[in-house]
Amino acid sequence: MIPYVNEYDTPNCNTLAETAKKSIRTPESLGLDRCIQCGACTASCPAARFSDYSPRQIVKKVLENDHSVLESKMIWSCFYCYSCNVRCPRNNSPVTIVQVLRQMAINEGIGVEKLAYFLEIGEYLAENGASKVPETGIRNMEKDLGERWIGIKRNLGSTRSEMGLSSRDFRNTNGEVQAILESTGYFEREKWIKIKIEEKRIHGFVKTNYSDKDKKNGEFGFESDRKYTGQEAITV
Ligand code: SF4
Ligand code: SF4
Repeated sequence: MIPYVNEYDTPNCNTLAETAKKSIRTPESLGLDRCIQCGACTASCPAARFSDYSPRQIVKKVLENDHSVLESKMIWSCFYCYSCNVRCPRNNSPVTIVQVLRQMAINEGIGVEKLAYFLEIGEYLAENGASKVPETGIRNMEKDLGERWIGIKRNLGSTRSEMGLSSRDFRNTNGEVQAILESTGYFEREKWIKIKIEEKRIHGFVKTNYSDKDKKNGEFGFESDRKYTGQEAITV
């Protein structure tokens, strides 16, 4: 078990649904129990458009208290655009439920390798008291946005000074950010995550508990929502 599991983040409850509802990440009005499996969340989800990812099915697994969902790569496909949150007719929020599931998975050491990209953000935050885009992300942005953007980045200091703006150096936080990270156990948690990622790197594989057969069939019983026509209309 990972050190410093946050009881507000992933409260220890009897069911996945209870943990999701009690987590500080989800709103008190969360309509998880009111989900009618209409599929509006999946229909509005950009990630679902390009993969077999299905927020509707994730919600279903949570309501069925099916813990295999924690080991599913599905929970890592969401990129927090909140379209599902806005579209749900029952005030449910698959996006915040996914956030809770990810933390639960990490607590079990599942999917920690997904955090490798983000470790740099924590390190930078601890040192400078501000966030940053990781180097890999910057390289991708340079590729996507091209020379003009690179030029703006290179000349940012002189451009700011021409506009009479101050330096972007945030480094004088008097150790406040470090103190917060220290007292919340961030550094211990980060150390544990780094060890776990390194272990996975050494072994040269990402350990999952699902078989090739499961993957082919839509892992853990996830089936593509592309064939899902939605909830039948109820005539009253
Ligand atoms: S849109 Fe809301 S009610 Fe419909 S399946 Fe998704 S979570 Fe359930
Ligand atoms: S927040 Fe996540 S699950 Fe919801 S629509 Fe966006 S990508 Fe899909």
